[in-house]
Amino acid sequence: MTQNFKKHEFDCSCGCAMPLTVELNVQRLAEELQYIRNYIQRPITINSGYRCESYNNTIPGSSSRSQHVLGKAADIVVSGMNSAQVFEQLDELQHKGKIHTGGMGLYDTFVHYDIRGYRKRWNYSSNSNVSYSNTSITENPLVLEKDQKEKTLDSKSIPVKKVPIPLSSVLSGVGVLFSTYVVYVYNYKRGLFDELIQRLLNLPDWIQSFF
Ligand SMILES: [Zn+2]
Repeated sequence: MTQNFKKHEFDCSCGCAMPLTVELNVQRLAEELQYIRNYIQRPITINSGYRCESYNNTIPGSSSRSQHVLGKAADIVVSGMNSAQVFEQLDELQHKGKIHTGGMGLYDTFVHYDIRGYRKRWNYSSNSNVSYSNTSITENPLVLEKDQKEKTLDSKSIPVKKVPIPLSSVLSGVGVLFSTYVVYVYNYKRGLFDELIQRLLNLPDWIQSFF
């Protein structure tokens, strides 16, 4: 999927096949993890990636709405770092807009990381010294720094010209609208619309008369 992450590392432990929609999420997740791996320069082990619903149900305490079921979450271990260090590192990267906004959960032996699209933090470890905030302050959850760069490049490559609207076309537009209005009022007063509606209502009968 990426330089250091293979699809089988994210596969469900029960051995079931990964649905395509899940695989697309896993691809995005793997790209995030690859960015993290390149940044911290340490190998990342995936304890648990995708979980199908039935396998997920067998895990005690796991939510049925778990991001693992969507293929958007991975429980990771980074060699040479404890889970609190990993958690703080990921939190910092997300705060700086380097990785997508999502969920991070601290556990004693691993860190849960997901790309749900909005900020979520929890600490289920025995370490209570790790500080984190569940409210986003400076970051924009929808716009990533790297996405913004791509956007600026895009808008540079396709210059958008502002075409001024000529006065004549504005005037003729107003003219058409006004004359339509005049015709409407004139016909309305003459009761022509009543006649038209009556004809439309009679249309089914008229069609039926052919059969
Ligand atoms: Zn499964």
